[in-house]
Formats: sequence, structure tokens, C-alpha cells
Amino acid sequence: MRTLLLLCLLLLNPALAEDRLQVEGYPLQNGLHVLLKPTAERGHVAIRLVVGVGFEHFSCAAKELPHLLEHLLFSGIDASGEAGLEARMQALGGEWNAYTRDSDTTYVLEVPAANQRAALDLLLASLLNTELDARKVAAAKRVVERENGGHYSNLQRLLDQQNVSREAHQQLAVELGLACAERAPLAPLSLTQLEQLRRDWYVPNNMNLIVVGDLDPLLPAYLDRSYGALPAADIPPPRELAEGTEQAAARRSLFNGLLGDNASLHWLLPEPWVGEHDHATWELLRDYLDWQLYQELRLQRSLSYGPWSERSVYGSRSFFSLNAELERADLTVAEQVLRALGQRLHDNGLDAATFQRLQQAAIAKQRWAVQGNSALADYYWNALGDYHNGRFSDPAKALQAVSLEQANSAVRQLFGAPGYLRIEQPLLSMSALYGLAGSAALLILALLAWRRRKG
Ligand SMILES: [Zn+2]
Repeated sequence: MRTLLLLCLLLLNPALAEDRLQVEGYPLQNGLHVLLKPTAERGHVAIRLVVGVGFEHFSCAAKELPHLLEHLLFSGIDASGEAGLEARMQALGGEWNAYTRDSDTTYVLEVPAANQRAALDLLLASLLNTELDARKVAAAKRVVERENGGHYSNLQRLLDQQNVSREAHQQLAVELGLACAERAPLAPLSLTQLEQLRRDWYVPNNMNLIVVGDLDPLLPAYLDRSYGALPAADIPPPRELAEGTEQAAARRSLFNGLLGDNASLHWLLPEPWVGEHDHATWELLRDYLDWQLYQELRLQRSLSYGPWSERSVYGSRSFFSLNAELERADLTVAEQVLRALGQRLHDNGLDAATFQRLQQAAIAKQRWAVQGNSALADYYWNALGDYHNGRFSDPAKALQAVSLEQANSAVRQLFGAPGYLRIEQPLLSMSALYGLAGSAALLILALLAWRRRKG
């Protein structure tokens, strides 16, 4: 009966296809949550299977487990192995990939509408029927190691221990005790741990299935029979997110290479919680700061081509940062510009007309920012927490609700703290290299002259 109702809803209601925030969602009996969105774009469906397990569910020593399992689940479901599995997807005319993030592991499929059930079957077979063994695990470890930047050398470990060569944001997160100090190891991860992960977390009541596009009328009934047959199970309790209690240096220089005149400047500030519309407030402030940085660092002073602001989350804490790629010689003046900008915003607040213009632009953008089945499916994936009673909450409304007073209060709090400065640059500048080469040449000349005089 529900299937019939859904069909009517999906196929006979054109308004449903037009309103992107209205999405038919329901749980299967085993707890797997399904989101179906028919669209006017024919011939294609975008599928996202979101499994609620990611890096944040594991300690530093086991952090790579979900990523390793993600790779292993593409390693083959029969004797034809990985190549055979990939060939099956090719035969369906589709493509697939997967991503492990902090809070989820997501399988991303793009397939012709005619083969949507076959593609979902193949995905299900990969999740359930992939038999793990030592050879496959070793191969997957090699791939993940390459993705993580190759072999973790003793030199790199030493540099990490000295806090001198990480990316700026990551470096701050490590200092504050919010991120792991060393690269997560792969070698100790065992087959038993991987099997356990699959048993614990790859359960239907820990999954969301999103299908967007030219939906097959038989899809709801098919899902009941296939994905609906997975047995539900208890999910392990979530790990506490790192609180971060440690102190970080106010400023620090980091090396990102051996030689060069380039540098990047990062001013990171803890992002305070500003109550209702917190997310929308900070999104608008990011637009505002982007515009200020562009004007001051690029248009007025030509110090940086594409300065940017950024929001990042580590453990339980959020940060807002101002960033710029520069010439090394311009670091001091760029820092002065950033500090002056922060002081001005702290003292005087935002320019009301500029804030209003950027706010209206952000609202207008909501009408065209998400286009096509794949972008829509990605949007739902990233907004799962905002889905209630058949609707995703409206980001345009949230942006509209932010008042100038609220934005001013947030920016005052933000720049009321000194924050942390991180500078990435190569070990030696070109002029330092010439200086060293010059000194060496002088030394050689002096030695030669000395020998001649002796001779
Ligand atoms: Zn990977």
C-alpha cells in the first residue's frame, strides 16, 4: 500500500519535482532510511548510500579502518576480482566511487535510469558478499598509503613530532589536542578489525539511501525486497569528540618545502557559538570576509591573488580563518593588513550596506547553486541532519533571518580573541640560497689564495 502511495506521489505530482527541498523519505522496516526525489532530468539517477561510520568513530591508532574497508569493498565479489566487479559496473553504463569522511562513508553512483536497480544490486553485493582476505587487505593498504602521501618515513615522523611541516590548520588542531599527532598507521590494522567494523557499522539502521532523478516506478518495491532484507543490529555507541584542552603557540613558522620565495599566511580564530542561525551567520561572515580580503589584499595592495576565508571543524571545535598565498617578502605587511582589518571589524562592526548586499546575493544564489541530479543528491547527503517531515530546511530562510546585529556580535567575539598565526614557507628563500652560495664561493676563493701564497 505504501508503495502504491509513493508511486502516486512520485510520478503524478510535478510540484514535488520542482521544489528541491521537498523529498519523500521513509524508513524501511529494518531502519534503513530512504530518500527518493524524482526530477525532470530524464535518463539518469544519482545514488548516494551514506553509511554512518567515519574517521571520528575510531582512535588515532585505528583511524584508517573505515577508509581501508571502503577500498576493500571494491575488491571483488567473486573469482573475477576487482577487475570483474568494475567490468560489471561498466556493462551497466554507470560509474561509482566512495568517500570516507569524519562522520560517514558514502558510496556514490551515477547510472543510466534503466539500470538503477541493477546498479543498486551490484552495490549491495559489494557490501555483503566481498570476502576479505590477507592478500586483499595488503593490496588495499598499499593504495591507501599512496593516497596518504606515500610511505611515512622516519624523517616525516620526526618533522611531525617537531611541529614544523604540517598544513597550518592541521598543525593547530594537533597542538590543541583535536587531531592525531602522527599519521594514522596502516600496518597494524587487522582482518579481524575490518570484519568487526563491517558487522558493527554496515547495518541498515545506520544507512541512508538517496536516489535522485528519473526514478524507476518499481524502485520502492525493489528496495523493500533487497535492502529491506538486511538484518538490523545495535550500533556501537559514538566516541566522544576530542574537546581539545591543550595550549597552542600564538604564532609558528612551518616548512612546506626546501627552497622558494612563496609563503602562505593563516590567521585562525576559534569560532564562537552565536545561538540560533549560527551556521547561516558564519556563512555570511565568510562571504563578507572573502570580499574584504579580496579588496584589501588583491585590489588595493596586489599582495595576494586569491586570499580566502575558511571555516573548519576539528573534534568538537570550529575555527574561522583568514588565509593568503603571498611572496615571502610581503608577509609582514600582509599580517599588518589582516590585523588592522580584524581590529576595524571588532571596533566598528560590518558596513551595513555591504552586509545587506552580500546577504541578498547569498539568498539569490540558493535558487541556482544546486543544479542537476548529482548536485542535488550531494546536497541531500550533506544536509541529512536538516531533514524533517518530508522537507529539508530552507537555507535561504536561515540566511534571511540573520540580522546585522547578530553578525556584528559574532564578528566582535571572533576578533576579540588573538587567535593563532601560522606561516607556511620553504626552508630557504632564494636570496638566502644566493647568500649561502656567495659565502661558499668566497670561502673557496680565500682558500685558493691562501694555498697560492703558501706555495
Ligand atoms: Zn581512498
